[in-house]
Amino acid sequence: MLIGGKWVDPASAEWFESMNPFTAKPWALVPRGSKADVDQAIAAAKCAFLGEWRKLTATARGALLHKFGDLVAAEAQRLAEIESTDNGKLIAEMRGQLNYIPQWFYYYGGLADKIEGRVIPIDKPGVFNFTREEPLGVVAAITPWNSPLLLATWKLAPALAAGNTVVWKPSEFSSVSAFAFGELFEKAGFPPGVVNIITGFGNEVGEPLITHQDVAKVAFTGGDKTGEHVYGLAARGIKHVTLELGGKSANIVFDDADLDQAVKGVVSGIFAATGQTCIAGSRALIHRSIHAEFVERLLDLAKTARMGNPLDASTQVGPVTTRPQYEKILDYIRIAKEEGAVCRLGGAPAQREECGSGWFVEPTIFTGVNPEMRIANEEVFGPVLSVIPFDDEDEAVRIANNTVYGLAAGVWTQSIRRALLMSERLEAGTVWVNTYRAVSYMSPFGGYKRSGIGRESGIDAIRDYLQTKSVWIDIAGNAPNPFVMR
Ligand code: NDP
Repeated sequence: MLIGGKWVDPASAEWFESMNPFTAKPWALVPRGSKADVDQAIAAAKCAFLGEWRKLTATARGALLHKFGDLVAAEAQRLAEIESTDNGKLIAEMRGQLNYIPQWFYYYGGLADKIEGRVIPIDKPGVFNFTREEPLGVVAAITPWNSPLLLATWKLAPALAAGNTVVWKPSEFSSVSAFAFGELFEKAGFPPGVVNIITGFGNEVGEPLITHQDVAKVAFTGGDKTGEHVYGLAARGIKHVTLELGGKSANIVFDDADLDQAVKGVVSGIFAATGQTCIAGSRALIHRSIHAEFVERLLDLAKTARMGNPLDASTQVGPVTTRPQYEKILDYIRIAKEEGAVCRLGGAPAQREECGSGWFVEPTIFTGVNPEMRIANEEVFGPVLSVIPFDDEDEAVRIANNTVYGLAAGVWTQSIRRALLMSERLEAGTVWVNTYRAVSYMSPFGGYKRSGIGRESGIDAIRDYLQTKSVWIDIAGNAPNPFVMR
């Protein structure tokens, strides 16, 4: 693990296996961190925050972020292969992600020396008042397994640009790429202790990290139940928190949509990344007048999905990342069938030769889904689509918003009026019109309702890693009445 610029073994002297989801076999050993390692990492991060890191100018900080971005760009293929082997995501997607990740470091590197305070035209004569935007201190970054480096980047880049130091705990299921990232932070020349990496389990590493008194902020991405727990722990220490949590996003297709585009959008919204994305469009809301035709088109396209080795560039649907997740998806499929949903495609583990011994679930489509069913309300985090008909805009909005989540939504229509009205009425942090699953370093991303608190990416995100100080300077030299508030 990376603590204070040194690669160290875990205090427990214990290691655990990381599994390759395509072979269902272990392929790496990962240090099992514990509170002792967390304490050391936080001490190193605090020391760097108060010492060398603070002495750097904002421009120098930005230059380090730029250099790191260049190193990631140069290593994109290797990093993508590690991610794909460790979490089973398609090499085609991971290559795209790794080639794009440097943009976050360039963007926030550029912002580092543009963090400015304000001069307030204060209402009190003889006083000069200005604000400073200051870093928070040590940030605990906790990330999930589905896009390990991308989701870590969304935290690390703004946190570092703002002048914080970081202790990062990746998911126990996908830690290996974190070590490769750590090496690049060293190579870029970040002072020791600015970025620390502790691997291990949520209760053994995550909790001591969140509850440590020297951690100023918790930046968490994961499931909403874990998020709720994390929020509670952080509340006890009155810590700053951002939470990026789950979703049950609706992809809404109107009868005036370009159906060729919409079919592709709905299929990619749920089957890309094997449905293991927070923004999965897991509910397809289809206007009743096109419902039958659209379902046929969905089935035709989904049936063509090539499953297999995620390291093969032509594979379109890879394995599920973890065994527990594989079992959870199959459980939801069983529940949906028991609740009376009609399974029109898949609905079982994939038995194809090209899937080997991996954890594969067939792309699955349910029709006859009632908005009250569990399959229409709970996050499956797998390749399972629920198709629900609607009659008009009001009903589409009602169904789409009838969820505890509010991460994303898709709208397919040729009408600009409808696009604007729907984007206003949908309770979601991101609304895509005639596209789906697009993200950028420039555009804020985050959830409404149980999908989270705070935003990542874009200018907004850096504010979540800063605090404002108001400085008052008396320039009149008049001694005020000591017994009256000025
Ligand atoms: P989890 O919530 O299970 O875990 C997320 C991270 O939290 C992991 O590093 C995990 O460690 C850690 N953790 C678990 N328990 C604790 C604890 N008690 N205290 C502190 N940390 C803990 O999520 P998954 O890894 O299963 O990821 C899938 C979820 O992430 C989905 O719900 C998905 O929607 C959400 N997600 C949200 C995104 C967004 O931006 N809104 C993006 C991507 C995913 P460990 O691995 O050891 O359990």
